[in-house]
This record gives sequence, C-alpha cells and structure tokens, in this order.
Amino acid sequence: MRRFLIAGNWKMHGTRRESVERARQLRDRLADVAAVDVLVCPPFPYLIAVGEALQGSRIQLGAQNAFYERKGAYTGEVSPEMLWDCGCSYVILGHSERRHILGETDDVVRRKLALALDVGLRPILCVGETLEQREAGETMSVIERQLRSALEGLTPESLEQVVIAYEPVWAIGTGRNATPEQAQEVHAMIRRLLRSLGGDTVSEQVRIQYGGSVKPDNARGLLEQPDVDGALVGGASLDPFQFEAIVGEAVAIGRGA
Ligand code: PEP
Repeated sequence: MRRFLIAGNWKMHGTRRESVERARQLRDRLADVAAVDVLVCPPFPYLIAVGEALQGSRIQLGAQNAFYERKGAYTGEVSPEMLWDCGCSYVILGHSERRHILGETDDVVRRKLALALDVGLRPILCVGETLEQREAGETMSVIERQLRSALEGLTPESLEQVVIAYEPVWAIGTGRNATPEQAQEVHAMIRRLLRSLGGDTVSEQVRIQYGGSVKPDNARGLLEQPDVDGALVGGASLDPFQFEAIVGEAVAIGRGA
C-alpha cells in the first residue's frame, strides 16, 4: 500500500508569528494522522521557529531551496548542511518559480540534488511543462529532459530517497489544476522512466506528488489516481483548515473510504 506525502510549500509568505501559529494549529489538528506523511516548507528565516512549534508531532520540516556547494563565499545562499542542522529532512528543488523567475537551469538543479542527497536530505524534485510547451505537444519530452538531467547516474539507493513533484507550470497559483487524467498520464510516464533509470524497486518506492492548485475540493480526484502518491500544495497550505482537509482526503483514500 502506498503512503501519501502531503507537503505544504509556504513560499515567501507570512511573518514569524503567523508561521509559528500555523505550525501550532497543524500540530494540534493533525495530531492523530499517522497513515499519511505530512511536511511543511516555511521560508528559511522561520525554519527553526516552525521546527520548534512542530516538536512532538509527526509533521516534518523541509526547505524550499538549497545551494549546490557545502560552504564558502556564496553570499545569500544556504547550504543543505545548514538546512539539515536546522532540522530539515526534505528540500524542494527545481521549483518552477526558481526555474522561471530566477533562471535555474537543469544543470543547477542536478548539482543541487546531488549535494542534498549527499548530505542526507530528501529532495523533492519539481518538474513540469509550461502552457506553451503543453500546447506544442512537448509535455512528455520536457519532463523527461528535466528528470534525466537531475537523476541519470544516481544509484538505486539514492534514487529511492528522491520525491518527484509533477507541477504543470500553468497550474501553479492559477486556480487551474490539471485534471486527474492529465496528472495520471504524466505520472505514469514518470514511473516508467524511473523504472528504466533504477529498476522496479525504485519505480515502486519513489513517490510522485502532483502540485498545481490542489484544494480540498479537487484533492480526492487527483490522489485517487494510481500513480499519484501525494500532493505539493502552495496556496492552500497557508490555511490550516484547507491543508488539514487535503490531508484528510489522503487519509480517507488510504482507508479505502
Ligand atoms: C507550488 O507552489 O508548488 C504550488 C503547487 O502552488 P499552488 O498550490 O498555489 O498552485
């Protein structure tokens, strides 16, 4: 039985007080959730405070980015070791906002992913096509390129640590989610590619999340797809009620309800 991973990407929102308050609410609301893995990814400056607020809960802590060097004269960057030291177990890498707004290339994402794995962080590798690419029929080739660039050459043991997030760029923050069928089609392709890169165990173990305007009212249809193993949630993760409801859908599907 697959185990869903529901992750909240808080992006660059909120104050420290709001972030801690949100974390406390989630800790209390999700105290009984054991069947689903839950993760929150606050902004860097709030990681420690949010981690403290989550203590005693099963909710894990992740970061939204990390650099590809361990240390040095890289003003403004944050190394994966620092994130580990702050209590993170996951890190989002290659998010489309970083690729498209900050110019991160496939090569940069590959280097970041390799170091994050080396340090013991579990990368959530984001891949996804733009609307233009989808309309040009390039969805599969774009995603295959992004995945191969980041993952080729990794051992099966390392590959098993990776989470993939399929996030169509046209669905992020737009209120327009992929249909369950569109998501499943891409997830199945990702699963096949994982098999060719690492074998059967890798393709079965690696979780493939869907991300892009996931809300309580569309989560179930997406999570019910056979190759959708969780969700990376942006906007709705800022509201503890909505995030709890999405986690609740995952719990219900796991129960067969
Ligand atoms: C995201 O930022 O990863 C995301 C999926 O955002 P949203 O849910 O707001 O579309």
